[in-house]
Amino acid sequence: MTRSQEPTATATPVPIPGAPPPGAGDPVGERSAGTGDRRERPQRRRARRVSLPAFPTARGWRAAAAAGRAAAAVSRCLGVGSGSVIAGRVALALCPDVLARLARGRTSVVVTGTNGKTTTSHLVAAALGGRGPVAHNAAGSNMTDGAVAALIDAPRARLAVLEVDELHLGPVLDAVEPDVLVLLNLSRDQLDRVSEVRATAHAIHVLLARHPETVVAANADDPLVVWAAGAARRVVWVAAGTRWTEDTLACPACGQGLARRVVGDEPGPWCCAGCGLCRPRAAWRWRGDDGGPTVRWGAAAPIELALSLPGRVNLGNATMALAAAAQIGTDPATAAPRLARVGEVAGRYGYLWLQGRRVRTLLVKNPAGWGEALDMLTPDRPVLIMVNSREADGRDVSWLWDLPVGTLAGRAVAAAGDRAADIGVRLSYADIAHHTDADPRTALEGLPPGEVDAVANYTAFLDLRRQLDPRPPRPERAPDRPPGGVGHGR
Ligand SMILES: [Zn+2]
Repeated sequence: MTRSQEPTATATPVPIPGAPPPGAGDPVGERSAGTGDRRERPQRRRARRVSLPAFPTARGWRAAAAAGRAAAAVSRCLGVGSGSVIAGRVALALCPDVLARLARGRTSVVVTGTNGKTTTSHLVAAALGGRGPVAHNAAGSNMTDGAVAALIDAPRARLAVLEVDELHLGPVLDAVEPDVLVLLNLSRDQLDRVSEVRATAHAIHVLLARHPETVVAANADDPLVVWAAGAARRVVWVAAGTRWTEDTLACPACGQGLARRVVGDEPGPWCCAGCGLCRPRAAWRWRGDDGGPTVRWGAAAPIELALSLPGRVNLGNATMALAAAAQIGTDPATAAPRLARVGEVAGRYGYLWLQGRRVRTLLVKNPAGWGEALDMLTPDRPVLIMVNSREADGRDVSWLWDLPVGTLAGRAVAAAGDRAADIGVRLSYADIAHHTDADPRTALEGLPPGEVDAVANYTAFLDLRRQLDPRPPRPERAPDRPPGGVGHGR
């Protein structure tokens, strides 16, 4: 690193060379940018609340919410789904501004980014859990309809935690006007559906310029996040870490090469000599101390971070969650122990069974996620890689060539899913011994006995969970006692 900024704990915005001026238009609509200082905040918040139309009436939007709730109940009753989407779709069709109506009066945290949204939103909800009911799209329905459904489902919750897909952030932020936005990371994902990642960062930058009241908890280790968050008036920088640097070899602001220090074998601080965009000094960070990981911020005493979730990436996610919760008045020392209650998250990190064999399921959708999943794999345990390329996954699987699969050398590996052959070719070019079978059950049966780590992308993950047994096998029953045994005869 050649230079560094020294922001304060709730840092000043990072100047964004080359970025559009605050208030510039973007694909998600036009709103005026705000000015002024923090002392004006309460008045500004009231003034800037979404201007709701005279129609539908209060009764009208409540009727829309009730219709959505009824649709969800019917969906569950028919076994079609959990209702976490249909409730929102029905309510939005009847009342387009129902999200703003539902969010009004609640204290809310929105979580976005390419990877870790679902897990981090669960951690935030756990951190806030001691303060009463929390509305939360816990199943991961992260578009606008999912946010609506979550608020419909918890009408009395004064707190809300909403995971939001980064491409749907605009409408949700405009309607909800959250107190805190958690901005985790940005990297290439679903190459044929999602725009180039720098364009996504730019759209978030523009969006934040028109939401000056929202505090942004942002990952200081991701240059794209730092560039995007630079438009926010208040940023709380968190050293959440990142291993994936392939999307930030060049500065997102000016295009010059980024200088990045390596600490140990991990990417460290970074800086652009061209425009001065550098890693901000983080107010929140975690450390892997001898006695276990801890979270530190400012001059406060370190707090133990005992998680049930595996992997270094989840220590970063937990630190982001505590930083976000602290912005709305939650004591981190009180909240931290509650994070240990988060174990399996919508199937992630959970176990399935196949003929008595335990299969641990990890969701990985892109190269950055793969890099973070590597340290969750149990050493020497066989690995099943399952990839589909359906609409929800993105049809383009060229991302498989970005995966550092060489680290699988020496393990027993199987490839499965619709694109098993593509994985097979990738593994072959890396000289990784493997076998290939589109059917995950057959692929698993070809692996050595014992537990297996399964790494799957979105629809493959769902397929796997449908095909394997969600419960462990029942222990074999003891044989019935012969007739006339003690206590049975007359
Ligand atoms: Zn630059």
